[in-house]
Amino acid sequence: MAKQIVQERMLIGGEWIDKEEAIDVTDPGTGELIATVPSATVEDVKKTISLARQGAAECAKLPIHERMSILHKVASYIEENKDVFVRTIVMESSKTIREARKEVLRCIETLRLSAEEARRIDGETIPFSQMPGHESRVGYVYRFPVGIVAAITPFNDPLNLVAHKVGPAIAAGNAVIVKPASLTPLSALRLAEAFLKAGLPANILSVITGHGSIICDPLVEHDDVRFVSFTGGYETGKRITEKVGVKKTGMELGSNSPTIVLEDANVKEAVSATVSGAFGVAGQNCIGVQRIFVEKPLYKRFLKEFVEETKKLKVGLKTNETTDIGPMISEKEARRVESWIDEVKSAGGTICFGGKRTKAYVEPTVLTNVPANTTIANEEVFGPVVIIESVNSLQHAIERSNNSNYGLQAGIFTEKLETAFQAIHELQFGGVMINDSSDVRIDGMPFGGIKGSGIGREGVRYAIEAMTEQKVVAFKLQNSPFF
Ligand code: NAP
Repeated sequence: MAKQIVQERMLIGGEWIDKEEAIDVTDPGTGELIATVPSATVEDVKKTISLARQGAAECAKLPIHERMSILHKVASYIEENKDVFVRTIVMESSKTIREARKEVLRCIETLRLSAEEARRIDGETIPFSQMPGHESRVGYVYRFPVGIVAAITPFNDPLNLVAHKVGPAIAAGNAVIVKPASLTPLSALRLAEAFLKAGLPANILSVITGHGSIICDPLVEHDDVRFVSFTGGYETGKRITEKVGVKKTGMELGSNSPTIVLEDANVKEAVSATVSGAFGVAGQNCIGVQRIFVEKPLYKRFLKEFVEETKKLKVGLKTNETTDIGPMISEKEARRVESWIDEVKSAGGTICFGGKRTKAYVEPTVLTNVPANTTIANEEVFGPVVIIESVNSLQHAIERSNNSNYGLQAGIFTEKLETAFQAIHELQFGGVMINDSSDVRIDGMPFGGIKGSGIGREGVRYAIEAMTEQKVVAFKLQNSPFF
C-alpha cells in the first residue's frame, strides 16, 4: 500500500496556509518522499511582514511574566511530546536517533534559558555628572525590542537552531518570521505548533516555507524587518549582508575548525574528542573538527589511534540505536564531498581510512599529506572528512590554524597552562576550547565567529542583546539632590 504523504501547511499570522505549489521533503537516508510544504511567494512574504508588524506591537506590550510563561509552556510541551520531535528530526534530517534526542533536549534548554533571560533584560545607570555642566542630570539605559526579526535557518540542527532565534526574539518582545531550510522545514513547523498551543498571540510568530532564493530577498530587504538573524553557509550569508541595507544582522556562518594536539596531550582523550567532533552528524556541524594539527613526536601514534577509533564507527540507518553516522543531507552533497576526496587523491594526498560513498552515505574519512591547493584544505567540507597534519611546534600549529578564511572555534590539547594561554591569545577564533576539540557548545554561551565565520553572537542572552536596541534616558532636574 502506498504511504500517505503529509501535506504540511505554513503558519502566517496564526493561520495555517496551504499553497498549490509545494516543495517536497524527503528522508535523506532513503530518498523517500515524507511530506510537502507550501512554496511561499513574494506576496506571502509581504502579507507575513504586515501581520508581524501587529505582532511586534503586541509582543512588546506582553508583560515579561507572560512571555516567560509561554516560553516555559513550550519547553514543557516539547518535553511531554519528545518522541514526536525526535521522530521529525530523524525523518527529515541527517541525524541518527541518538543525535536527534540530544537536539530535542538542547531545544528545551534553549527555550527555558530564553524564559529565564527575559527577566534580565536590564540596563545600567549613567553617571552624567562626569562631564562639567551635566551635574543635574540623572539617566539610565533602557532596552527595547527591535520590532520584527527575520530568522533564516539551515538544515543541520532543524529544531534547536530555530529555537535559538525564536526563543530570544520572543523573550525580548519581538515578532519573528522564520524561514527554515527547505530540506528540513518540518521541525520548525512542529515548534510553531507548540507556541500556538502555549497561547502565543497569533501575529507574533510566523513560519514561512519556500525557496530561499525566491523569498529571502523581499524578507531581508523590507524596511519593517529590523534584525536579520541568519545561520547558514558563507556564500548565502555574504549575499544577505549585501541585501539588507541599514539594519542589524547576526551572521552565524561556517568554518573548517582546527584542533591542535601537542606532544604533552592526553592522547586517549584527544583521540576520542576529535573522532566524535569530526564525524558527529556525518560531519555536518559548523564547529565540527576538519583540521587536526599534531606535534611531530606524537603524530604517528595519534594517527594510528585515531584511525583505530574511526574504524569502530557504524554507518547506517538513522533509526538504529547503534548507528553512529547517518547519511549526509542529500546524495548531491555526498557526491560533492566524494569529489573533494577524489581531488585530494589525484593531487597525491593519502586516504588513511574511508573515502567511499554509497548514495547519500559517506564513510568517515581520514586524510593526510593533503596538498595546500586542494579545495578541502581551504574550504568548509561540511561532511565526515578530517585532515590530520604533523606540525613542528605550538607556533607552527597556531599559524596553520589561523591560516583560514574562517574563525568560529578551535580546540587544543595540552597539559601546560602557559601553552594553553598562548593559544588562547594567538588563535584567531570566536572560541578556544582547552583539552577539548573545537566541537563544544552549550546553549547559554556566546557563540559565533570572526572573519568568514560571521558577525555577532548567539547563545540566548547574547541573541537577546542583539534583538534589542538601547535607549538612553536622561532626566534634567532643577536642583540635583545627588551632587
Ligand atoms: P545555506 O545553503 O546557506 O542555507 C541556509 C538558509 O538560507 C536556508 O534557509 C536557505 O533556504 C536560505 N537561502 C538559500 N539561498 C538563499 C538566498 N539566495 N538568499 C537568502 N537565503 C537563502 O546553508 P545550509 O546548507 O542549510 O547549512 C549549512 C551551513 O550552515 C554550513 O556552512 C554551516 O557551517 C552553517 N552553520 C553555521 C552555524 C553557526 O552557528 N555558525 C550553525 C549551523 C550551520 P533554502 O533551504 O530554501 O535554500
